[in-house]
Amino acid sequence: MRTENQSIHRAMTMKKLGTPTLLGIPFDGQSSYLRGAGDAPPKIREAFACDASNKTTELAVDLGLGGIYEDAGDLAFSERDAFAVIEAAVGALIDQGKRPVSLGGDHSITYPIVKAFGRRYPELTIFHFDAHPDLYDEFEGNRLSHACPFALIMEAGLAKRLVQVGIRTMVAHQREQAEKFGVEVVEMRGLPAYEKLRAGGPIYLTFDMDVLDPAFAPGISHREPGGMSVREAIAHLHAIEGKIVGADLVECNPVRDVEGLTATVAAKILKEILGKMIAG
Ligand code: MN
Ligand code: MN
Repeated sequence: MRTENQSIHRAMTMKKLGTPTLLGIPFDGQSSYLRGAGDAPPKIREAFACDASNKTTELAVDLGLGGIYEDAGDLAFSERDAFAVIEAAVGALIDQGKRPVSLGGDHSITYPIVKAFGRRYPELTIFHFDAHPDLYDEFEGNRLSHACPFALIMEAGLAKRLVQVGIRTMVAHQREQAEKFGVEVVEMRGLPAYEKLRAGGPIYLTFDMDVLDPAFAPGISHREPGGMSVREAIAHLHAIEGKIVGADLVECNPVRDVEGLTATVAAKILKEILGKMIAG
């Protein structure tokens, strides 16, 4: 009964680490160029539920099994209190023993999310997939911009390690910031980065959809050619070694999407992230 034992083992592992729990965060108030990412959570959910594909991940985890993951629905907030609501909601899920998987939203939401994680996991490692390092000290006079979350996170000491992969828009200022904060950057031209994706302590995974080449995922605000194929992204997700305690998937922008293609890709990435969290 190898299969049964494997399922039991997976269920136990999952219980120990907490059930992955979706949380929609429809916020795009800190986007510097285009709004629209706030419309993504229902589009990603719709693509995720679509009968065109089954619910079994490439790592053989059946997400169709009841209770294997949960969905806490979408957060409601005003633009003014968004960050406080996000931090409190993510913190509450962690305190209930869940592993929050947030659906953005622009990338600014990762700062309040990681505030909740960093306070509960002092040895946190962040694996960050993105075309952009998002390390600006401030962007157009705004420190809360989606161009800045990782500067805020590192400045506040919320992560022990930050590993960025897929970067291809480094300017001199962000290079200085990466050096200042000891960020481990693997630029797109330096891939693959499998060996960098190992951590002994808890891992937080943040996936900006624009790490993908816009040919695969045109529904994003900042199209940066020369990015990962969907296959390269999945290979890197599967290569992660360690305990993923939470994740987010951000910057899908339905306003820019073509035939719902990017939502479908986001749903596929979400599926593989959940599978990886459960299969270990
Ligand atoms: Mn980003
Ligand atoms: Mn980006």
